[in-house]
Amino acid sequence: MSIQTLQVELAERSYPIYIGEGLLQQVAVLFRERGVSERNSLLIITDQHVAPLYLDGLRDRLAQAGYQVKSAVVAAGEQAKSFSVYEQLMTEAISAGLDRKSVILALGGGVIGDLAGFVAATYMRGIPFVQIPTTLLAHDSSVGGKVAINHSLGKNLIGAFHQPLMVIYDTAALHTLPEREKAAGFAEIIKHGLIADEAFVNWLEQNVDPLWTLQAGYIDKAIRQGCAIKANIVSADETEQGQRALLNLGHTFGHAFEALSRYAQLNHGEAIAIGMTLAAKLAERLGLAEAGIAVRTKKLLASYRLPTEWPTGFAPEQVLAAMKRDKKVVQGQLNLVLPRAIGQVEVVKAVDEQSVLQLMRDVQG
Ligand code: NAD
Ligand code: MG
Repeated sequence: MSIQTLQVELAERSYPIYIGEGLLQQVAVLFRERGVSERNSLLIITDQHVAPLYLDGLRDRLAQAGYQVKSAVVAAGEQAKSFSVYEQLMTEAISAGLDRKSVILALGGGVIGDLAGFVAATYMRGIPFVQIPTTLLAHDSSVGGKVAINHSLGKNLIGAFHQPLMVIYDTAALHTLPEREKAAGFAEIIKHGLIADEAFVNWLEQNVDPLWTLQAGYIDKAIRQGCAIKANIVSADETEQGQRALLNLGHTFGHAFEALSRYAQLNHGEAIAIGMTLAAKLAERLGLAEAGIAVRTKKLLASYRLPTEWPTGFAPEQVLAAMKRDKKVVQGQLNLVLPRAIGQVEVVKAVDEQSVLQLMRDVQG
């Protein structure tokens, strides 16, 4: 089996990401290699979609290897990142007798990573956790150490920075993903290429078929490179002082679409796909990027079945107003991440609002 590995460099909080087809069979081996022994009791946290697919297999293999394993299953979807589910998981952790040496396993997508990671960050002031991502989008949440739950007044407002002990990414588990979730994951992979790596973008353009069908030797490399690009940015800026803002390409537009549709019509990946297309068009109009970059961006996203056209039912004025409510807005100024070229972006401060509005009116048609 070929395994891609990547070390996320964060001084004493550095950790490896293992990526490969069938890695769920190797969890106990990887645990031993990293010093997680039978003396460490384990709690697997997963959701109702993932549990019937992968929980029993993982639990049984770990039990066979001699580990004490408990599991907790929460409802699937964003609503699980709530105070009530968090409290319920804390109750399960206490009842299961977890101590400071216990390890929490987050088996699922970004929701489970964020939720189980926040449980791990706060249980007894912090215990180790391992991410076992089962969505493509979770390549993004597996790097950076941000863990959180939501408040009714906003997403991810209650959280911490808590780095995992390791990330074990079994690409075989991605085959059961619904198509829209798969496309959403590619949106963030493409974003990482557009931010920092033109050669990677070329490769994503040339290998749509093997990537879309999740072929081993392709999808593992794409995940690795997506994680590597994010890891480079995060290592330079662990607590989000500067560079990390570059990761928001397409996100100020995207968050506005998500918020206005109350997170129903478009998922995150779809919203940022439209956002990245708009950012590229805006960069051309402002003379920041050469003509052609917007067409190329749009074509790439569309080849991974992502939407790039203005979504129906949104008024440009409303979108602009929502963009200005984004938490990244500083002192009323609209700061946007815009491309300079494929593989190169920058934060543009105080972008002219009229240009943004005009662009949105034009593409709305
Ligand atoms: P998710 O965890 O809700 O997964 C999407 C859907 O797919 C869910 O219904 C889930 O049950 C299902 N699913 C997961 N794996 C599956 C599989 N292998 N087969 C079939 N179904 C499967 O969402 P997501 O898109 O993975 O992540 C989104 C979340 O990640 C958001 O809450 C976002 O805030 C968070 N996030 C965090 C970071 C970070 O840095 N911490 C970065 C990006 C996103
Ligand atoms: Mg994102």
